[in-house]
Amino acid sequence: MANVELIDVKKRFGKTEVIHGVTTTIEDGEFIVIVGPSGCGKSTLLRMVAGLESVSAGEVRIGGRRVNEVEPMDRDIAMVFQNYALYPHMSVRQNMGYGLKIAGDSKPEIDRKVGEAAKLLQLDPYLDRRPRDLSGGQRQRVAMGRAIVREPEVFLFDEPLSNLDAKLRVQMRLEIRDLQDRLGITSLYVTHDQVEAMTMADRMIVMNAGRAEQIGTPLDVYETPQTLFAAQFIGSPS
Ligand code: ADP
Ligand code: MG
Repeated sequence: MANVELIDVKKRFGKTEVIHGVTTTIEDGEFIVIVGPSGCGKSTLLRMVAGLESVSAGEVRIGGRRVNEVEPMDRDIAMVFQNYALYPHMSVRQNMGYGLKIAGDSKPEIDRKVGEAAKLLQLDPYLDRRPRDLSGGQRQRVAMGRAIVREPEVFLFDEPLSNLDAKLRVQMRLEIRDLQDRLGITSLYVTHDQVEAMTMADRMIVMNAGRAEQIGTPLDVYETPQTLFAAQFIGSPS
């Protein structure tokens, strides 16, 4: 279990600052949605939490430890992307177990973890199939399974549903939230979709041009938008 602290986090690429100082604490087991238009800095913020991108100023702490002080292999973080490239020549079972194999887990340990994740994600019947023989939703579930088997303390999602059709997106939102409720993994979920944010978030960070315009529950943001941007992007038109 771990909380995630962002303390005046800033990011510059060259001379251009793209994240202007974001501060918040994501509690243990909380599901936070970072929502805002394309280019506002959502992915950059998430990548800093993952330790994939250095912070230019401020710091990110996970469970009290600065991200950059923890070796990449020791970070209990899993990330699910929009382009969840699965290995086409491997079965679902192999795709889900591959990261564990690399990390040096024993065969029985891998089988146990993959089995548990497959059950959670209702993938048991498909374990021996190749990705090309799965539907879009099933593939997305395999990508989540690959992340879950590593038993992460923090789950990072970057627009994981944007390649799926509308109906499947709605279904997968429910599945991801249901799974997160059961596992209680601290989660940061990035989307540009307001409805996705409103329906999934415990709290949301409304981002615009590198700033957190408002951080609050969907109801807070909807009923009491604190900036014009938040009102126009999310809030009620009153
Ligand atoms: P979002 O995920 O909200 O669409 P990004 O975090 O991808 O936004 O990008 C935020 C800003 O940072 C954009 O202006 C983008 O062009 C810029 N940016 C992102 N990555 C890099 C990079 N590696 N080098 C330079 N600029 C970048
Ligand atoms: Mg992005």
